[in-house]
Amino acid sequence: MNRFILLIFVVIIGFSLLTEGWKKGRRHRKRKVTKFMHVSDVHFDLFYNQSISKDTSCRSTEGFKMADHEAPYGRIGCDSPEWLLESTLAAMKEKGKDAEFILLTGNLSAHDMTDDQGSPNVLKAIQTVSSKAHEVFHFFYPLCCFSSLDGKMVVLVPNAMYWNNNWQTYPLWDEIAERQLQWLAEQLALAKNKGKRVLIMSHIPPGGDPFNYNYFWIPKYAERYAILVAGKYHDVIAGQFYAHTHKDDFRLQILNTEDEKTSTKSFVLQTASVSPIYSNNPAFKVFTMRTDIQALVDYDQHYLDLEIATEFSNPVWKFDYTFSKRYPSKNKLINANRIDELSQKLISQTDAQYWNGYFMGTTANYFPSHYDRFGLYCIVRYVLEDDFHRCYDNFKVHN
Ligand SMILES: [Zn+2]
Repeated sequence: MNRFILLIFVVIIGFSLLTEGWKKGRRHRKRKVTKFMHVSDVHFDLFYNQSISKDTSCRSTEGFKMADHEAPYGRIGCDSPEWLLESTLAAMKEKGKDAEFILLTGNLSAHDMTDDQGSPNVLKAIQTVSSKAHEVFHFFYPLCCFSSLDGKMVVLVPNAMYWNNNWQTYPLWDEIAERQLQWLAEQLALAKNKGKRVLIMSHIPPGGDPFNYNYFWIPKYAERYAILVAGKYHDVIAGQFYAHTHKDDFRLQILNTEDEKTSTKSFVLQTASVSPIYSNNPAFKVFTMRTDIQALVDYDQHYLDLEIATEFSNPVWKFDYTFSKRYPSKNKLINANRIDELSQKLISQTDAQYWNGYFMGTTANYFPSHYDRFGLYCIVRYVLEDDFHRCYDNFKVHN
């Protein structure tokens, strides 16, 4: 039950953070480009102790050991200290100074924070992150479901937790999951009728986990969601934004896998986490979107190299890469065809640029934890588990 409570709090954090740029944007409706940021999985830890080892998640719980070095900015293997939260917000303010809004796709609290009392610590962490974000960006309101963006775009925030596999113990679960899907279908129909384009954001993505190839969603919901976003409404979706794996990553949704060339498609962009607990550097992205055609054009990823910062006591948020430079293409938009091209080039026999970039990008330049090239290729490419296995079984080289 405790885990369930934690889960709900995570869900409510489908947020849109509005910056002062939003107001400015409204005054300049004619401009063709807008910017926004995507950040996720802050996992702020109220009990972070910079002197304690990662064996007990940097907390002074039973059996803790002192670490061999102090880690004031954060430690690989632990959730985020307050310093890292504040530093991330400051870096976002600087790197995304002309951004008009922020997609914050969940997990504000550290792991394992529920206790016999329930979730007061989870709430406290959410409150801290919210108020600190508010201090930096001034506009901040939780967005559970719907928001109009400049009249021509809509941000939909379905609660994907109900389509997820792990927590299905609640009797009304199926009913709510069903209603969520119904709601999404209605909103997409509405957007299509009014000629609007849609950004979808939520926490746990459709598709597979790159760590173990487990698929997150209940298959029937994964399939029906794919039919909506990659089928009838593929041209309505400007982008889907998810997180949860703590990795910078991509997912393609192909409706008809028998005939992929002519099939309609959609795509998901996942962002690396702020928390370095699963062996990645903290990172976030600044997107550019064309407002005349409501399409994603590009993004920059920024990151903090935690080991360099710690060693030299000099934390500096650095530019990592620009999507269009790392994955050069004739296609000048970030859309389903572009992600299709990207996924195919991950296993190119003549050009290593895409794979090299992708592999280091996933962890924002921390050393990736495992190497299984064709597994990762199939995970990016196939959002349904059966399709993944068909893809994976086709390759003889597995790791
Ligand atoms: Zn997380």
